[in-house]
Amino acid sequence: MAEFSGKKVLVIGGSRGIGAAIVRRLARDGASVRFTWAGSRTKAEELAHQTGAKAIQADATERSEMLSVVRNAGSIDIFVFNAGICVAGDPLTLNPDDVDRMIDINIRAAYHCAVEAARSMPDGGRIILIGSTNANRVPFKGLAAYSMTKSALQSMVRGLARDFGDRHITVNVIQPGPTDTDMNPANGPQADLMHSVMAIKEHGSADDVAAYVSFLASNAARGITGAMQTIDGGFSA
Ligand code: NDP
Repeated sequence: MAEFSGKKVLVIGGSRGIGAAIVRRLARDGASVRFTWAGSRTKAEELAHQTGAKAIQADATERSEMLSVVRNAGSIDIFVFNAGICVAGDPLTLNPDDVDRMIDINIRAAYHCAVEAARSMPDGGRIILIGSTNANRVPFKGLAAYSMTKSALQSMVRGLARDFGDRHITVNVIQPGPTDTDMNPANGPQADLMHSVMAIKEHGSADDVAAYVSFLASNAARGITGAMQTIDGGFSA
C-alpha cells in the first residue's frame, strides 16, 4: 500500500514550481490531494488531470476565501502552505503596496490557513510551511522584506508546534535555497551570484523539496516539530 493511502492533503499554491512538485509527489505516494491556484488556470487544470488531484481557485490575499477552502477540505491529514511571492529590490524605491501584498501572502495567509487546518486536523497530522534559506542568511542587497516574511515562519512553527503538540500534530518549515522554478530559474541573471555563496554551486530541484515534504509527512518524522528544515546546497552554511 502506498505510504499516504487514505490520507487527505491540502496544498496552498500548488499550480506551479515547488507546489506542483509537492502535489505530484504526495499524489504518487497515494494521498488524496487538493491544491489551490490563483492565476495559473491552465497549469492547474493540467496538473489535476495528470495526478487526479482536485484544483481549487483561491487568492491567498483574500482571507475569507482561503479559510473557506481550508474548511471545505474537511479533516486534513497533511497541510502544506507553499504559496509565495518574492518582491525584491532597493527598499527605498520598492512599491509599499507590493511589499504589503507579499506580507499578506507569505505571512498572513500562511498563519491563518495553518491555524484553520489545525482546527479539524486529526491527531498525528502534519503542518508544513515552505519558507526560505533567506530566513537564515541574507547575503545580497534587496531581499530584506522577502527574508523578513520567511523568518516570520520560523517563530510561527515554533509556537504552533507547542500549541498543537498535545495532539501529536507536527509543525515545520522547509527552507529551500535557490530552486529551479519560474520564480528563480537556474539560468536566470542572478544564478551565478547565488551559486557563489553555495557549497554545492547549482540550483536545487523542486522534486527534492517535495521529497523532503514527503519525509516530514511520514510516520518516521513524527518526532520532528517546531523545526527549520533547510535544503539549500549550503547557501546558509
Ligand atoms: P513560483 O513562482 O514558481 O510558484 C508560486 C506558487 O505560488 C504558484 O503556484 C502560484 O499560483 C502561487 N501563488 C502566488 N501568488 C498567489 C496568491 N496570491 N494566492 C495563491 N497562490 C499564489 O514559485 P516557487 O515554486 O519557486 O516558490 C514556492 C515557494 O517556495 C514560495 O513560498 C517561495 O517563496 C519559496 N522558495 C522558493 C525558492 C526558489 O528558489 N524557487 C527558494 C526559497 C523559497 P498561481 O501561479 O496559480 O498564481
